[in-house]
Amino acid sequence: MNNSQKSSEISLHVPPLTWNSFRQAMLSARNSHEEVIGFLFCQRHQISKHQIRYFPQDWIVPAPDCYEHQSACGLVLKEEFHLFLLENYLSKSQLDVVHVHTHAGAETPCFSVVDDRAESEYARFLSSNFSQKTRLISGVFDESMEQSNFRIWNKKGNDFDSVNFYHSWFEIKEVPNAQPNQQSNTNLMFSRQKVFGEVFQQQLSELTVALIGCGGIGAVFAEQLGRLGVKKWLLVDPDRLEIVNLNRMPGATQQMVEKKWHKVEYVKHLIKKIYQIGSCVKTIPTAIEDKTTQQEIAAADLIIVATDNHRSRQIAQQLALKYMRPLFSLGTHIDIQADGMPRMYCRITVPPLGGGWCLMCGNIINLQKAALESAPVEIENLASQAGYLEGINDPAVFWLNSICASTAVGVIQGMVGGFLNIEAGLDWIYQFPESQWHKTNTDYLLTPDCYFCGSDGCDL
Ligand SMILES: [Zn+2]
Ligand SMILES: [Zn+2]
Repeated sequence: MNNSQKSSEISLHVPPLTWNSFRQAMLSARNSHEEVIGFLFCQRHQISKHQIRYFPQDWIVPAPDCYEHQSACGLVLKEEFHLFLLENYLSKSQLDVVHVHTHAGAETPCFSVVDDRAESEYARFLSSNFSQKTRLISGVFDESMEQSNFRIWNKKGNDFDSVNFYHSWFEIKEVPNAQPNQQSNTNLMFSRQKVFGEVFQQQLSELTVALIGCGGIGAVFAEQLGRLGVKKWLLVDPDRLEIVNLNRMPGATQQMVEKKWHKVEYVKHLIKKIYQIGSCVKTIPTAIEDKTTQQEIAAADLIIVATDNHRSRQIAQQLALKYMRPLFSLGTHIDIQADGMPRMYCRITVPPLGGGWCLMCGNIINLQKAALESAPVEIENLASQAGYLEGINDPAVFWLNSICASTAVGVIQGMVGGFLNIEAGLDWIYQFPESQWHKTNTDYLLTPDCYFCGSDGCDL
């Protein structure tokens, strides 16, 4: 992605809705062309030795009356405001500081000598005055806040590294104008969804989606998200197609079953039918427990888990937390009540990216079942004799899987398009025949002391 191989790859992600509010606040904190300042307070996530991701937990934009001096060629904040920051943000959190300001004009801005001096001093102040050695990231924007430059200062304030800035959940650079010389068939293919904008379509075509579980829900999901515009896929599932799958896998045939197709190959076939050229589908017919597979998943932009067991969902959640990737958990459940009436549910869960709650502490998956699923066969047999395990062949129907998959695709559209707020996470349950959507109030799911998402980073 970046051609500089030397040091760490550092990225700052401001989710679309937060970005919109922050940018609006910045733009309205001035009358004409004056420079403005804003602060974001970000959680640092060390993804690997060479990769760090920052996500904001909070932000503030000082009102015009917080400035000692505000003009088109410089800014000085009042002493009181600095004290306010100190008391309310800096002294009581573990967060690093992102200082953003604007320069007049519309070109991609460069840091000035004045910026260098002030930021160097501020970086030294932050790292030496707080026990957590707060770091300073600084960004400069043009007047309309379109073009930017970001850097992170070292603790001594005498050097900095560049930072990739994204106002997106993903590491996708916005391409302002899609090349008109690109094959027009693809463009024409999406003409009926042009209302959502070229940037939206461009982002989808750049997105890499890891789909864990290519069964009844995963297949419908891939077909639909593929048709929406996602071309880059990583498919993970150890199973092969069976006759019993044919009630719910679009386009799956008896021949595929006879030829013992892996499910990942079948879903790849679905994607390849959408895109004659330009798609990239990697298939891994192993379980998610495989370490190499986990590395591949970690490199994707988005993780979808649509498997039929708790253990794989637990691992997917741990991977998502470790590598700061958005996670979607999709599932359905059908049971028959004592009076013979069926009850049907589907559930879409998107835990918040920076922790707060997860599939484990939110009780979306059952850890006891997950542990049993990973246990040796003998223990599994004992457990099932004792009534701990449900039948493997859970009931499943195409239409219910489709509601689940379609809704998840809709949530992804809202997430990429920036019109659905998933920053606090989301947990939606559909119930049939009542035909009701229940939306869990995610405030109740917050679990600060969760073993998995409470502290940053859990070991797999
Ligand atoms: Zn400046
Ligand atoms: Zn948790």
